[in-house]
Amino acid sequence: MPEWTRNCIHPRDEIMQAMERIYRYRMTTTSGGNLSIRESDGSTWITPARVDKGSLSRSDIVRVDPENRVEGPHPPSSEFPFHDAIYRVRPDIRAIVHAHPVALVAFSICRMVPNTRIFHQAYFMGGKVGFAPYALPGSKELGTNIAEQFRNGCDSVVLENHGVVVGGTSLSHAFQRFEALEFASKTLIKAQHLGNIRYLDEQELAIANSRRVSTRTMTPGPPSHLELECRKQLIDFLKRGCRQRLLISTEGSYSARLGNDSFLITPSQLDRELLQVEDLVLVEEGAHEEGKTPSRASELHRELYKRYPSIRSIVFAHPVNATAFSITDSPLDARTIPESYLFLREVPRIPYGTQYIDGLRNTPASKTIGDFIQPNNPAGIVENDGVVVMGTTILDAFDRLEVFESTAEAIINARSIGTVCSMPPDVIDDLRRAFGIE
Ligand SMILES: [Zn+2]
Repeated sequence: MPEWTRNCIHPRDEIMQAMERIYRYRMTTTSGGNLSIRESDGSTWITPARVDKGSLSRSDIVRVDPENRVEGPHPPSSEFPFHDAIYRVRPDIRAIVHAHPVALVAFSICRMVPNTRIFHQAYFMGGKVGFAPYALPGSKELGTNIAEQFRNGCDSVVLENHGVVVGGTSLSHAFQRFEALEFASKTLIKAQHLGNIRYLDEQELAIANSRRVSTRTMTPGPPSHLELECRKQLIDFLKRGCRQRLLISTEGSYSARLGNDSFLITPSQLDRELLQVEDLVLVEEGAHEEGKTPSRASELHRELYKRYPSIRSIVFAHPVNATAFSITDSPLDARTIPESYLFLREVPRIPYGTQYIDGLRNTPASKTIGDFIQPNNPAGIVENDGVVVMGTTILDAFDRLEVFESTAEAIINARSIGTVCSMPPDVIDDLRRAFGIE
């Protein structure tokens, strides 16, 4: 992330949008949490004290100038002192998110810090995570405790018996970091119900950054109606996936086949919830639309389309319950209810690293994702990553993804109340016959 990008959104609106999203994602309560942006002249835009976060309007956002004079109809957040203390010790930080999201609060009240080495994305995006001892909210001492951690190079700090503070080079960067950290925390908590957690070592983390993307580009002709239709549907389902917490803002990829060797796919890095139809990238015979960067998983999608002509949509996603299985050795048995079995069948585990072995690397001896999933077995768990689902339409892939997540959640819940009983083989045989499964 560059330290300075030309941003055309007013700080008031940036704060409004981020707060609305944090509240909608249920990552804060209405009274908890505050956001700020530091400008290069040393002034700070910050959420006001004691205003309902669910009905914040842009004029409620307060500006505090470098002489601590306040402009706006409300006093600044009572936590302004710690925001200011962080900006003073870390000039590279230009925005701060503070909130009380439930999973990170759980860590904070156990006086623990989440170990983000479960996913490469959480590890690299989350930055170094510190822990600040308790002090009275709004006090100078709290500011000192938190700033000390940031001074030591932490980018996120869990506050003892309180919540979390996350810094970034922009508000969207801080939000993405905050989301990655809360996602890792939630997954760790869910995974505790399933068994031993598998952490990634240095070498495993490093291979995640080795994935290359084809640099071949092309200039497409006018879009067909099929392409326009697929662009619209993909965007609708991406937004829905973010709202339903099946997808996270900066990870995962979703594609739709257009032809024999052409498909549309999500771009690399851009926030999934804010994507527009024109942001999706057309990939034809391995070359992508000029001026855009396809998801780094583009070659994996291509390989699956080439191998399975009946597949028309593929999604790699990170719903928290299904992803919890990915960081433990616990298999996900979809013989829970008929719907789960019919949509998911046998759910294979795909060893960590398989997702980085792509067509470009040219290692025919290694297995690829298509060796684990196929049209009759369309859903898999990618170790220490998330899930992959294929479908015959964009809706079909989304539908299976939803079933995947709700099945995983039901199993995790069931394990805390009793013994999970799978449907026996004769029941499964009946189902297979009734639904014509080979
Ligand atoms: Zn707080």
